[in-house]
Amino acid sequence: MKDTYDALLAIYTFYEDFTADIPVACRSGCNTCCTASVTATSLEINYMVKMAGVFSTPGVVNRISSCLNGPVYRPVSTINQSASRCMAGREPAPEHGTHGLGKCPMLNKEGLCSVYAFRPFACRAMSSESACKKAGGAFMQSFLITINLVIYQIIEHMDRGGQYGNMLDLLIVGMKTGEGIIKGDHILTNQELPGFIIPPDELPRFKSFMRRLVRMPVGNLKLGDYLPKEPRIIS
Ligand code: SF4
Repeated sequence: MKDTYDALLAIYTFYEDFTADIPVACRSGCNTCCTASVTATSLEINYMVKMAGVFSTPGVVNRISSCLNGPVYRPVSTINQSASRCMAGREPAPEHGTHGLGKCPMLNKEGLCSVYAFRPFACRAMSSESACKKAGGAFMQSFLITINLVIYQIIEHMDRGGQYGNMLDLLIVGMKTGEGIIKGDHILTNQELPGFIIPPDELPRFKSFMRRLVRMPVGNLKLGDYLPKEPRIIS
């Protein structure tokens, strides 16, 4: 598991470097997107629990449980399952979850993320060029949305056979069953990477992005060693 955690950290670091020049309005203390509807993989949750000691924070289990009593988003398919359907020319599975807006229980009294350095990719991927509160929602460049999906797919592939779902469901079930053994209702199984779907006008930037990503070091390996050799690309 350790080298997979190292690969996950390498992806987080790569993403932070790659997106460093993209202007965002997000500022410390703004937590509009920190809801109870964040999704994650078991790899990310196990990493966060281990590194941030989530369950040593007093009251955290009660806060998570009470969030789960309200409406929360629960995906019906993983990102790679959705990509497979699209690549086969099928419509995405219809969603039936509710995007409840209850606040994430990882926020501390100051409104800051208590697990910030170890937060899942869904938290890192959420950014906006304009202040969401004023604009009524987040605004992202199309290419950023594309590479966010690519990173979601890669993390799922690295955790294939592991689990995917609402972060709070994964935390609660993981706490009951122990690290690395996450099972339960509302939880999906991560799938292998079926390939990427890239808009034609973004192909050159995507290829440059992938060339950099696969060269990112992970100990004696590179991130490319964690991926299929020549992933299919549909454009
Ligand atoms: S884990 Fe942290 S960054 Fe992610 S939604 Fe919760 S408070 Fe926000």
